[in-house]
Amino acid sequence: TTGGETIEFQAEARQLLRLMIHSIYSNKDVFLRELISNASDALDKLRLAAYQDKDLGADTEDLHVELVPDAGARTLTVRDNGIGMTRDEVVDLIGTIARSGTAELLAKLREAGDDARQELIGQFGVGFYSSFMVADRVELVTRKAGAGEGVRWASDGEGTYTIEPVADAPQGTAVTLHLKASDAEDQLHDYADPSVLRRIVKTYSDFITWPVRMPPGTGTAGDADDAAPETLNSMKALWARPQKDVTEEEYAEFYRHVSHDWQEPLETIRLAAEGTFEYQALLFLPKVAPMDLHMRDARRGVQLYVRRVFIMDDCEALVPEYLRFVKGVVDAADLSLNVSREILQQDRQISAIRRRLVKKVLSVLGSLRDNEPEKYATFWEQCGRALKEGLLSDADNRDTILGVSAFATTHDADAPTSLAAYKQRMREGQDAIYYMTGDSRTAIEASPHMEAFRDKGYEVLLLTDPVDEVWVDAVDGFDGTPLRSIAKGQVDLQTDEEKEEAAAKQTEFADLCTWMAEVLTEDVKEVRLSTRLTTSPAVLVGDEFDMTPTLEKMYRAMGQ
Ligand code: ADP
Ligand code: MG
Repeated sequence: TTGGETIEFQAEARQLLRLMIHSIYSNKDVFLRELISNASDALDKLRLAAYQDKDLGADTEDLHVELVPDAGARTLTVRDNGIGMTRDEVVDLIGTIARSGTAELLAKLREAGDDARQELIGQFGVGFYSSFMVADRVELVTRKAGAGEGVRWASDGEGTYTIEPVADAPQGTAVTLHLKASDAEDQLHDYADPSVLRRIVKTYSDFITWPVRMPPGTGTAGDADDAAPETLNSMKALWARPQKDVTEEEYAEFYRHVSHDWQEPLETIRLAAEGTFEYQALLFLPKVAPMDLHMRDARRGVQLYVRRVFIMDDCEALVPEYLRFVKGVVDAADLSLNVSREILQQDRQISAIRRRLVKKVLSVLGSLRDNEPEKYATFWEQCGRALKEGLLSDADNRDTILGVSAFATTHDADAPTSLAAYKQRMREGQDAIYYMTGDSRTAIEASPHMEAFRDKGYEVLLLTDPVDEVWVDAVDGFDGTPLRSIAKGQVDLQTDEEKEEAAAKQTEFADLCTWMAEVLTEDVKEVRLSTRLTTSPAVLVGDEFDMTPTLEKMYRAMGQ
């Protein structure tokens, strides 16, 4: 062949590969799940592409995944007749890791211990590269549907790969693993053994909606059925099966397939509607926040299907950005298979589904908080910051979001509080929920603004996320009680007696204040006797409508 090339992996890819080769993930079986998952995606994409482009010239007869173990050669081939890849796609998709968060991941991996490493890798999802856990050489032959020529990619995972054109490749992708000799002795993990493959497919990939087959005669030489291929999975879409028939384990595997997470979900949510807008949804909350949760191009995790046909990943019309940690599937009955992202944004049915999904997710969070506090705490720690963005962006659900949110508080350093619980602890005569924003709990607690509140036993919420600075201005209050910053305006903590005393002092020191205000005229708006300090001599206070100190600092840091 001509036009062969040896290319270096991108640096990040090289590092991840090295981790894979030295097998930091203890359950190696999952490599097969990753390859079948990719094959299934490729079949989904082909079906859709062929539907949308009648001239594609693709073969869509008998779409399937095939596993071909060869005990003699010690290879396993995972083949699909799906969409395939062009040469450039192979270089981009397989030779590099474009996913956001890669650099951060690698930095964390370098510092982490072994257990933490597994978890991190799990969160990131290494996909195709997991082949190198079980193979010391991987070959991939692919031809894009409709294209004339194919591509062969091969690598031992050590830094470079080769790539060359192939004249006669079949449509789709075949990944051949040259299995590590070390796994051959291990009967449970000999991936050239058909019974091992049967078990793994049943465990991890049963719900894949395409047939996963072994060729006739594989591992059952001499049987009567040898003429027909053997299908290893049941192919039933989980969301279409009655809820009671689906096991936790099946949900967990499906979750891993759609989310690229390696853990089980924190919570599984199902909902369905019949009638004019018929749909089914199967959604998951993660145990660990997706790696890219706070990155600019974070993916939203809900896939859209139309009557079991995959339409798109990452369907932003179905979930608002602040719920981007929700993963899963929505299968709508009455949409055209031809919908585009643009059309979806305007679609009435999709908006109706979206409204209902949002309400459902928020209500599940509410019931987690009430009934499963530990799960709720995990959720909040991982994804709470994202959820709070909804206080700004989703005015319709603002009260509900506030209701299911949790806030660090002076009441208990270890347990964040709900606003409802705060209200129950409010002191007699207290007419607002007090909060202060700042960089950290310690910084806020050390602030002079805190003194009077602490001394008089008022609870203050400690808001330290950047997003807190912003939503507090959008939110009027909770359940009839306003939120008030203790760093802004006048906060009245005095009894009548104290007020008389203060008024007397005010007169006594009026001249001093006027004089100070004149001296400081460039720097302050006004000088007042304070009722809020007990030990600090003075404090700078913002007007009710001024920026908070943190926000001011933020702007100053940005040079404004
Ligand atoms: P992920 O599936 O999370 O995107 P992978 O490492 O598993 O990550 O795969 C990277 C990309 O390579 C896929 O997104 C897909 O575009 C492409 N790819 C992998 N396997 C196949 C395949 N069998 N057919 C077509 N494209 C594939
Ligand atoms: Mg994948």
